[in-house]
Amino acid sequence: MENKIVKTLIYDKQVRLYFVDNTKLINEILSQSKVTNRLLKLILGKSVSVVSLISGTLKGDQRISLQMTMSDPKYKVFADVDAKGNVRGYLNEELLKTSFDDINNVSLEYFIGHKGTIRVIKGSEMNQFTGITDMPYGNIVDDISHYFKQSEQTQTYIGANIELGNDNSLLFSKAIYAQLLPGAPIHLLDEVKHTINTNQEFFNRFVNFRANNSEKKLRKLFKDVKVIGYSPVQFFCGCSKEMFYGMLHSLSRDDLKQAINKKEPIDTVCQICGRTYSFGQSEIQELL
Ligand SMILES: [Zn+2]
Repeated sequence: MENKIVKTLIYDKQVRLYFVDNTKLINEILSQSKVTNRLLKLILGKSVSVVSLISGTLKGDQRISLQMTMSDPKYKVFADVDAKGNVRGYLNEELLKTSFDDINNVSLEYFIGHKGTIRVIKGSEMNQFTGITDMPYGNIVDDISHYFKQSEQTQTYIGANIELGNDNSLLFSKAIYAQLLPGAPIHLLDEVKHTINTNQEFFNRFVNFRANNSEKKLRKLFKDVKVIGYSPVQFFCGCSKEMFYGMLHSLSRDDLKQAINKKEPIDTVCQICGRTYSFGQSEIQELL
């Protein structure tokens, strides 16, 4: 089943409230990354989950790219999404090969540390905006809310619930996003937050949210609920063979000649989605 963001306006169009069950998406991204460590799964899963939900706020050719850097700056996480809900997320090489000692038996907060940063690039072809904030909460999700408050001056609440089983397999992933629209009183956000936190059971059950009954269910919790739409989120890398020609150019003439002599293709693998692009004899010959 495709994962879909449910988009609503509540409190007489004063608050935007979006939520998603993105279990399928997160499962695909976690399997793709080949990460097995529990902490790394949580870091990647949470980051991608929140970013996937933010896609619901984008329009046209806008996209948002998030880069999270831990206190130890060699560790980075990337996640990005466009307005069509195409989501990617990955850990950098250093994080993938991090030593056992660095990540076992430490908490997420400890691993992020006091100097973690979030860098967000939001934009379209025409204009781009970059914002950087620190990570005072050390749990990723509240830190991204903090980013919106600091950098975009919007009152935002984000919640993400990810549950891993004893064998570290993903049980479920859900996320919720509430944002005050211009002119709304600030206390409304606290009210929404409180309602969400005291109705976790309800929000955990919205897997099969259907248009006909979702408004009815939500009306029990919030005032003036209006479901304004649904938008899909899916894993999509967007890489192409052309993008890997650059890598081929970086190989030495000897390497290229060797491949020709052995009559072997040169294979390149996208680190993000795992797709292999194979360059044949004639394509290699062109570079010589
Ligand atoms: Zn790819």
